[in-house]
Amino acid sequence: MLRIVVLGAAAGGGVPQWNCGCAVCRAARTDHPEIRNSQASVAVSADGEHWFLINASPDLRYQVTRTPQLHPKPGALRHSPIAGVILTNGEIDAVAGLLSMREGSPFTLYAHERVLAILKSNSIFNVLNAENVKRRPIEVERAFEPALPDGAPSGLEVLPFEVPGKGAWYLEGKAHPAGNDGAGDTLGLRVLDKASGKYFYFLAACARVTDDLKSRLAGAALVFFDGTVWRDDELIAAGLGNKTGQGMGHISMSGDHGAIESLAGLDIGRKVFLHINNSNPALLHGSDERKTAEQAGWHIPADGMEITL
Ligand SMILES: [Zn+2]
Repeated sequence: MLRIVVLGAAAGGGVPQWNCGCAVCRAARTDHPEIRNSQASVAVSADGEHWFLINASPDLRYQVTRTPQLHPKPGALRHSPIAGVILTNGEIDAVAGLLSMREGSPFTLYAHERVLAILKSNSIFNVLNAENVKRRPIEVERAFEPALPDGAPSGLEVLPFEVPGKGAWYLEGKAHPAGNDGAGDTLGLRVLDKASGKYFYFLAACARVTDDLKSRLAGAALVFFDGTVWRDDELIAAGLGNKTGQGMGHISMSGDHGAIESLAGLDIGRKVFLHINNSNPALLHGSDERKTAEQAGWHIPADGMEITL
């Protein structure tokens, strides 16, 4: 059985974002604490005992604290059920939480060599002692089975694949530590339970839905999908910034080539938006945007949402 916990549902900055006075952030601070969300990450387990994180958000410490499945087992002085972290990109949102895992528990870090190169070029990540925290390069279209700290198989099979997207924004205009072709900077994952054969997809960043991607996702029991913005010019229209969703490598939920339309009719069991930016009106309960998404069969999750497959 696959057990999944949404540790964080929000995009970078979270909801509310510390310096944001937009309508959603104001509502989250005042009358609607139910829409407060931490930054995107998911935990997954095949046995209910050992867990793998997909991305380590800057809110990781808070997320672990509020998730009983990730607490040290009773009676152990030092222990963590977190057996590994799988990184889908090298953005701050995905890697900063690693710095909250520096207290000496062994786990394995799985990432594309481009992402590992970003970590290697930042000396602050040396705080994760290489003896305790093994780095394992992952490759596009090559499935792997994450291992438990003692080397035993986890029962999971993870298939990374390339997603239309863009590189880490803080590297824009700079030479990439691992070369500059952009490959491997944004990965999607298929995570499969080897015992049952059930699987889900994780795509927290995706710039557009290609025909290849549609055929990949068709028939999946569960898809977590990029829900950063409702409309492409949302940040500009709200006066919050000068970037479009596309400019940040994120598809919009709505619109002609948006996620809702692009993934319609693909026979996906459960469609869950993830990485939802605080500017996105679909976060507000009762908003027209949320109703539209829900009527199209999408879930707008909150932190702590649990799913079993
Ligand atoms: Zn805001």
